[in-house]
Amino acid sequence: MTLCTPGNPTADIRRCCSGPKEYCGVFGVFGHEDAAKLTYFGLYALQHRGQESAGIVASDGRSVTEHRQMGLVADVFSEDVMKELRGHIALGHVRYSTTGSSLLKNAQPVLVNFRGNPIALGHNGNLTNARALRCDLEDHGSILSTTNDSEIIIHLLVRHLGTDIGQALLEALPHAQGAYSLGLMTEKELIAVRDPRGFRPLCLGRLSNGAWVISSETCAFDLVEAEYVRDIEPGEIVVIDKNGLRSYHMPSPETKNCIFEFVYFARPDSSIFERFVYPIRKRMGARLAEENPHLEGDLTLPFPDSGNYAGLGFGQASGIPFEFGMIRNHYVGRTFIQPSQSMRDFGVRVKLNPVKELIRGKRVIIVEDSIIRGTTSRTRVKTLRELGAKEVHMVVSCPPTRYPCFYGIDFSSRGELVAALKSVDETAKFVGLDSLHYLSLDGMVEATGFDKSKFCLACYNGEYSVPPDENFSKFGLEPMC
Ligand code: 5GP
Ligand code: MG
Repeated sequence: MTLCTPGNPTADIRRCCSGPKEYCGVFGVFGHEDAAKLTYFGLYALQHRGQESAGIVASDGRSVTEHRQMGLVADVFSEDVMKELRGHIALGHVRYSTTGSSLLKNAQPVLVNFRGNPIALGHNGNLTNARALRCDLEDHGSILSTTNDSEIIIHLLVRHLGTDIGQALLEALPHAQGAYSLGLMTEKELIAVRDPRGFRPLCLGRLSNGAWVISSETCAFDLVEAEYVRDIEPGEIVVIDKNGLRSYHMPSPETKNCIFEFVYFARPDSSIFERFVYPIRKRMGARLAEENPHLEGDLTLPFPDSGNYAGLGFGQASGIPFEFGMIRNHYVGRTFIQPSQSMRDFGVRVKLNPVKELIRGKRVIIVEDSIIRGTTSRTRVKTLRELGAKEVHMVVSCPPTRYPCFYGIDFSSRGELVAALKSVDETAKFVGLDSLHYLSLDGMVEATGFDKSKFCLACYNGEYSVPPDENFSKFGLEPMC
């Protein structure tokens, strides 16, 4: 048997350590008789953070029930399932992963029994030392049943578990490096944790009956009529039980919030990192107009939905009329009967359909939130040209994405980033544009109103505050466990 150790970079490591990229949403309730039902609604609001699997674990203080399944929240839970999820405490999770790790066993919350006590965990983020931790755990006899790094956190936790779970987390979590916003649950407690840099968002809210709620984003609070109380602080562990709420603090040397949450990932009706997303996206668009005063066009055309808000800001600031020139089909599911080979680019076209009459003979300025691989943009631009657009320009509301993310966003290899391989002019050519204009790094940061030092900008400038496992580079910056 080949041992899976960081110093032994064989093909076996690839096999036993390759796994999902985490990209998720967390929601939990403590102190409401319909805790699971509220969690279901919370997950519904967080569906954009993960569409592959969903799960809820609930407790009535004496026993714990769970349901996890592949699929969208609406499909995973039925009335019958919800009836089984009894109790005043619940923790839910939506998860996204990429091909190969789309397995039910990786669905969360992870639920284990330790010395007769159930512990559930839902994780948003990515541990940068998961491989080393996994190998160390296995060397010491741990048997890991999933390929996600969330299970690793549970193993670390139980090594330190005594009577106080907050204290155990305080001792265990410094071994975990990277990004983790966590929801945990025992029979009698709900716990919220953010890693010391606070890469991913997590906030605390309250229902009118006094119940506590935690959520990745505040849009879920709106749906369940919870009031936003505050963010879980970077490095904070909040334990909620029948006596109320108590906090523990890990040393937190610097905050590094993920700016891509503002650019693309979070819902525009959410507040994350203590600011509303919507006006920030609009300001990014306005700033694009300021940085490109000589760009001329007949219409501002956002690629929906993600480009809409920067598009609005760009259109208003530039005076170039904003039009919904691409209409989205809101009912596209994850699977449909595949068309015949002759129907090219079907996957892209089924989602967005251009309004032909708006485009013919026009100088179109597309507003995009980001270009990652460049392939979607390329197909859409081709369509605009075929429809007779006179010129096609693109403004992008962030700088070129040149470096992989090791902290929970799904671009973990440089090879898949078009801006890592090509100059701006070459990218413009690849996408089929007359011109391409990215927002400057300072422009993007200033649109948030925060200081630059607060953000993780690694995908734009390659400055990683937490270095990834050495195996990342050995394996061409592949996804981690
Ligand atoms: P590209 O042209 O790079 O293939 O695709 C760009 C589009 O992907 C943009 O519209 C952007 O909103 C979207 N996008 C950005 N990041 C992600 C991501 O992490 N996952 C998915 N599914 N889409 C993304
Ligand atoms: Mg988009």
